[in-house]
Amino acid sequence: MTPSIFPFGRHETRDSGGALPWSEEGTTLPGAQEPSPLGRGIAVQVPDSLVIDVPDVGVYDVVILGAGCSGLSLCLALLEHGATGPILLVDSRTEYHDDRTWSFWDVEPTRFTHLARARWTTWRVSTATDQVRSSTLSTPYVSLAANDFYRYLLGRLAEYPHVRFLTGEDVVGYREVADGLEVATTRFRVRGAQLVDSRGLRPTRGERDDIARRSTWVPQKFVGWHLVSSRPVFHADECMLMDFDVDQTRGLRFAYVLPVSPNEALVENVYLADVPVTEAEHRAEATRVLRREPLRPRARRLRDPR
Ligand SMILES: Cc1cc2nc3c(=O)[nH]c(=O)nc-3n(C[C@H](O)[C@H](O)[C@H](O)COP(=O)(O)OP(=O)(O)OC[C@H]3O[C@@H](n4cnc5c(N)ncnc54)[C@H](O)[C@@H]3O)c2cc1C
Repeated sequence: MTPSIFPFGRHETRDSGGALPWSEEGTTLPGAQEPSPLGRGIAVQVPDSLVIDVPDVGVYDVVILGAGCSGLSLCLALLEHGATGPILLVDSRTEYHDDRTWSFWDVEPTRFTHLARARWTTWRVSTATDQVRSSTLSTPYVSLAANDFYRYLLGRLAEYPHVRFLTGEDVVGYREVADGLEVATTRFRVRGAQLVDSRGLRPTRGERDDIARRSTWVPQKFVGWHLVSSRPVFHADECMLMDFDVDQTRGLRFAYVLPVSPNEALVENVYLADVPVTEAEHRAEATRVLRREPLRPRARRLRDPR
């Protein structure tokens, strides 16, 4: 990740609980072009027609707590399956940020696959002793930017006049009442015949210990960088899916490099182990991985910061 060719567009990190312990957006190094020709990092607004300031006093058919990936997807699925009663989404967000990238095998149709920024039919997996390079035309690996997903989903939900969105509102709790459930937010009481809690809450330490005792618990810690180069340096037609040819002394670790275009890639350094890893260590390890990545021929020359 030599600064002269890899200005950081943004990067993100989270552990397996989904929280963002830190983040840094829009860091542009001296001499670098403004990142993100594809509009990554742009905030997505909730359409005005969805937003309400005060919820109805009546009973909503469905109240969805948390309008992230699962809450928004569920809402659209309900609508497409013919839900006609009033639906309320509640989320503490007031707007959406490009906070993650979803990558998955295109094995079955989804409502979102067409939004993919990139699809790879050739991919590599490496270990210290071996490398597999394989191609699959029927089930490519695809990558979806969060802001594309949020923009699309919110736009689709805005087509339905019986969907409402209470933004910037923290859910405090809920309880069963005679005609359904009552949700308490910081300012309101809202009633719903049905309720879906998709806030993605992290398990408590006690719950985690319990899960670990009763089943298999695989912790995951990673840092991902969305890199934008001012020149075409990546081979965008194939990706490094899992590179285990990295230092394994602290715990099971791999890295991956997903080139979205010749100028843009997602690089992640991943631990499947509950080890303390600092940002600086993640950065150094990802840098070493990227230095091994086959770049386009003329790009190598650019790596010399002089
Ligand atoms: C097989 C698998 C693969 C995965 N691959 C990826 C991947 O490639 N990339 C990736 O990023 N993740 C990946 N994940 C992780 C996960 O799927 C995503 O991070 C996803 O966004 C989680 O969706 P969610 O709706 O549960 O939570 P979120 O999208 O985080 O949504 C939760 C929402 O609840 C809201 N909320 C929370 N608390 C409150 C409160 N008290 N009051 C009001 N609102 C609240 C939040 O603001 C947020 O909008 C993967 C998971 C699995 C199982």
